[in-house]
Amino acid sequence: MQENNEQIKERIQKLSAEINKLRHEYHDLDKPDLTDEIYSSLMAELKGLEEKYPEWKFPDSPTQRIGGRPLDKFQKVLHKTRQWSFNDAFNFEEMGGWEEKIKRMIAKIKNPPHSKEREQLNYVCELKIDGLKVILTYENGDFVRGATRGDGVIGEDVTENLKTIFNIPLKLNQPINCIVVGECFMGKKELVRINKLRAKKGEALFANSRNAAAGSIRQLDPRVASERRLECFVYDIDQISANSDQKSANSNDTKIQIPESQIEELELLEELGFRVNEHYRLCESISEIENYYEEWTRKKDKEDYGIDGVVVKINSRFLQEQLGYTGKSPRWGIAYKFPAEKVTTVVEDIGVQVGRTGALTPVAHLRPVLVAGSMVSRATLHNEDEIKRLDVRIGDTVVVQKAGDVIPEITETLIGLRTGQEKIFVMPQTCPICGGPVRKEIIGGKEEESAALYCANPKCFAVEKEKIIHFVSKKGFNIDGLGEKIVEQLVNEGVISDMAEIFELKKGDLEPLERFAEKSADNLILAIEKSKHIALEKFLYALGIRYAGEETAVLVANSLQDVLGLKISTFKEFIDVFPRITKEDLLKVKGIGDKSAESLSQWFSDLENVKLLEKMRESGVEILVDNEKKEVNEKIWGKTFVLTGEAGNFTRDALRDMIRRAGGSVSSSVSKNTDYVIAGENPGSKYQKAIDLGVKIISEKEFEEMLK
Ligand code: ZN
Repeated sequence: MQENNEQIKERIQKLSAEINKLRHEYHDLDKPDLTDEIYSSLMAELKGLEEKYPEWKFPDSPTQRIGGRPLDKFQKVLHKTRQWSFNDAFNFEEMGGWEEKIKRMIAKIKNPPHSKEREQLNYVCELKIDGLKVILTYENGDFVRGATRGDGVIGEDVTENLKTIFNIPLKLNQPINCIVVGECFMGKKELVRINKLRAKKGEALFANSRNAAAGSIRQLDPRVASERRLECFVYDIDQISANSDQKSANSNDTKIQIPESQIEELELLEELGFRVNEHYRLCESISEIENYYEEWTRKKDKEDYGIDGVVVKINSRFLQEQLGYTGKSPRWGIAYKFPAEKVTTVVEDIGVQVGRTGALTPVAHLRPVLVAGSMVSRATLHNEDEIKRLDVRIGDTVVVQKAGDVIPEITETLIGLRTGQEKIFVMPQTCPICGGPVRKEIIGGKEEESAALYCANPKCFAVEKEKIIHFVSKKGFNIDGLGEKIVEQLVNEGVISDMAEIFELKKGDLEPLERFAEKSADNLILAIEKSKHIALEKFLYALGIRYAGEETAVLVANSLQDVLGLKISTFKEFIDVFPRITKEDLLKVKGIGDKSAESLSQWFSDLENVKLLEKMRESGVEILVDNEKKEVNEKIWGKTFVLTGEAGNFTRDALRDMIRRAGGSVSSSVSKNTDYVIAGENPGSKYQKAIDLGVKIISEKEFEEMLK
């Protein structure tokens, strides 16, 4: 898209307006449902545009100020030391760029007091706590004033509220004067407790620890703050001096001053009685910083407080002073942020994919953007209803979210950034692949609530292709070397037209295909041959029947004899017997719902499908049925498990198999129906959800105990 100057100017103005609006909601109203990731994402775009087009950089641009305006309801405090905020770095290259710059500046320093300062450049890494910055003033060792940062120059007097925080000392261990800086936050467990209370009262929930801390500290009534357990880490000394009475009493040994290094500063803060976050580390090089950063990228969710990055400071105070400040930030430090899990980008187009069930799924084509460390250019929009709910149009700026291993999704459309050129997307009336008619899915005699559209052509090329890809995938027939690309090629060239024809493939069919060497053809034929003997549950899953996923397939396979009364030991018997079972029969299987039962019986009652099974059998497919009674474990039978965190002794697949063999089932998300969450190292959001819902959380070891 060729953008002209006027469009750039308009984008800059709209971005500024949106950022100002967000900032107002965020800082002045403490509105909880906002995330500053969206804010920084928009800010980054604005900064980039202003650098490229300085003619459109306006003096009142949001990039020209930091923080928020103090509210009128609190008394204003003029900070004795300006409160800076660090520049951000988002990757190792940016860190390298920062180091290079400061090294160049250090090389120019004339007459350093100690020559070692020049040679040895050390850094202190501290965790960047996601909270509310506060400035604490002590006189003669007594806590006299606490203020928020505000806009860096003027903050708000929140002394009474800060006095309710137990780890802000009211009296220091030494009778000195000082101004220190710290970060207030609400621990995650406390946040859950407070949110439960708020939910009961019908109040809006706090989105995170920072919101909760801000919402509590900026309350006119200190009793509110005192009912909430807030905490505070202190990390910086702005000013320090012995008090005047002491000075006159013994003038020699009270030369209190800011220590010569950041490490000593943290140690002094601890001595004075402040709580200092214990995870700081002295690093001698940028690669040591990277190790620390990577270590905490992995560990950050384990702490009870939110951590959104690593603050890196040059250890030597002399060098800090020499390097000084830019207009807005210190040069001697940088905030190395963890990858954002929410960013903003532009929807360049909306396309439609056809899946193996024939479902037409709208997909947003995004301007590529880095989310949680990976480049994202597509996001599913699920269906027409979802597009309507988000009100997303082609050309819109949207918020893209990615958490953990979850597929990226669009969570919000920033309507304020519209120019009027956006296009409304309409679902096609025909299948975009085969041109066949589309219909709304009807299952169970009723039109489903969701407006999902399906290609009605049973021979749709796209559907067949997706079905085959699913059929040969790892959890199905698991045919090595038969990936998506090759399936596509085979279907495109007309070599196969359904799942069964895979087993009829000959080496001669493959070799003429592009990039198919003799050896890889041999290997594929061998892999197909090996796959022909397959466990019944895997076979059922491979068929790709709607609402018959892994879990359903296992339940059905395990219930053949006991529940359904079917004696089946060969594929032939299966084909003869199974298609006759009804929806009602299937509903007797514990854990099988209405939709699954309906869909399964429908699939097997279709003669075309039975013919397909027959064709597979003729090509040598054989199912393995485990007729022995399952090892039912009383503690596990009928229970629902959810897995989260890193695998321990067992892989996730192995754990799933163990649960199923013992008669339990595995679900992918935590709900009030979940009986147990098995949590490994670094558990994700499911862990928190389990706590919220009061679901029992057990370790892999405890699960093993249950199995015995
Ligand atoms: Zn189609």
